Amino acid sequence: MWDKEYVWHPFTQMKTYRREKPLIIERGEGSYLYDVEGNKYLDGYSSLWVNVHGHNHPELNEALIQQAGKIAHSTLLGAANVPSILLAKKLVEITPKGLTKVFYSDSGSTSVEIALKMAYQYWQLKDPIRYAGKKNKFISLREAYHGDTIGSVSVGGMETFHHIFKPLLFERLEAPAPYTYRLTENNDAEACKMLCLKALDTMLREHHEEIAGLIIEPLVQGAAGMITAPDGFLRGVRELCTRYNVLMIADEVAVGFGRTGTLFACEQENVEPDFLCVAKGLTAGYLPLAATLVREEIYEAFLGEPEELRTFFHGHTYTGNQLACAVALKNIELIEREKLIDSLVAKIECLAQNLEKFHTLPHVGDVRQRGMMVGIELVQDKDSKKTFPMHMQVEHNVILHARQNGAIIRPLGPVIVLMPILSMSLEELEQLTDITYEAIKTVT
Ligand code: PLP
Repeated sequence: MWDKEYVWHPFTQMKTYRREKPLIIERGEGSYLYDVEGNKYLDGYSSLWVNVHGHNHPELNEALIQQAGKIAHSTLLGAANVPSILLAKKLVEITPKGLTKVFYSDSGSTSVEIALKMAYQYWQLKDPIRYAGKKNKFISLREAYHGDTIGSVSVGGMETFHHIFKPLLFERLEAPAPYTYRLTENNDAEACKMLCLKALDTMLREHHEEIAGLIIEPLVQGAAGMITAPDGFLRGVRELCTRYNVLMIADEVAVGFGRTGTLFACEQENVEPDFLCVAKGLTAGYLPLAATLVREEIYEAFLGEPEELRTFFHGHTYTGNQLACAVALKNIELIEREKLIDSLVAKIECLAQNLEKFHTLPHVGDVRQRGMMVGIELVQDKDSKKTFPMHMQVEHNVILHARQNGAIIRPLGPVIVLMPILSMSLEELEQLTDITYEAIKTVT
């Protein structure tokens, strides 16, 4: 089998992977994926949280073909191209107020890397004397995940993924994550919010001179297992950043483009960040593309004559790729034309209703939902909230069971994640939750 012989899969223990029959996807259609043997599966993870309108979408395909007929790529270094200009204008129009400029890259990690470097350089350009040796650290949350490049790992807070790289990373300060289920006795969201904001306030009061920026996944910490923030938490973080003169970086790589029920998560708490990172859903799952949006004041700090060396010396080869920008434009056009965000209200409600019954399962400790993002946390018993030991592979067995019954889902540690494609029908959503329920029922 050539897959096992030649391919090293990401975030995958290859020793166990090679023991099992691989899932080799050949094609997709709407909400379904088909493997090389012709088996059909509901795409319950939006092909890693990217797909928006379904697979093999005729209009998205056509946008790509049209663009390929003109040109696939030319560089953005010192030159421009039509789709990247149109997309930048559109992104500024649809993202939270105050963001006026777009810097392209090609993955969520690079969009974060760019925000971190820009934030640091901003302070140095703004006042090199006042900020000499200062504003060179970042705050991020416990359990944060912002990508896998060294800069984005530096602001990561997931021990399992990040611990080994510590000697390579820059210093970060860790604020508590609003993990209501684990931080409070009775899932008390308000108490959790107060606790976390108080700790952040104390940290910022003491360290704000050292801090260039704070990076946060608005409303949901995705990779940590769909940790849903209490209402008002994001707003509170914004207020603290403003009070202590610290830049706020909203990493909407996972939550952007409708996942939480609004086009961007920041909208739900009227938050205007200083930076906004988007990727994943930007091209509706077609091509790698990311963007870091910034406020005008940040952009202007970088202006000067070449010899002043105020330039942002950063850029990737495929920055602003025409194919990717063309498909992103079509994605946004479809979201608007089909009123996708409005259509989510019924789907979110349907998911909520279908998730009710999970609470009765003996090994379900917590069920978290924010819009179309769902995390079902498995525990050995509800009182101790102890998770299953890794070697038991409980979560892995759940997803294998689901796969045998026609749905592809993925676990994140002890959490079974559902991230349905936003265009899924109510029937498909019901089918997805039913298959997941039956799979979790097998846990003993
Ligand atoms: N930021 C967040 C919040 C993410 O969830 C992810 C990926 O899951 C990233 C950044 C990294 O994105 P990418 O995998 O495209 O580099």
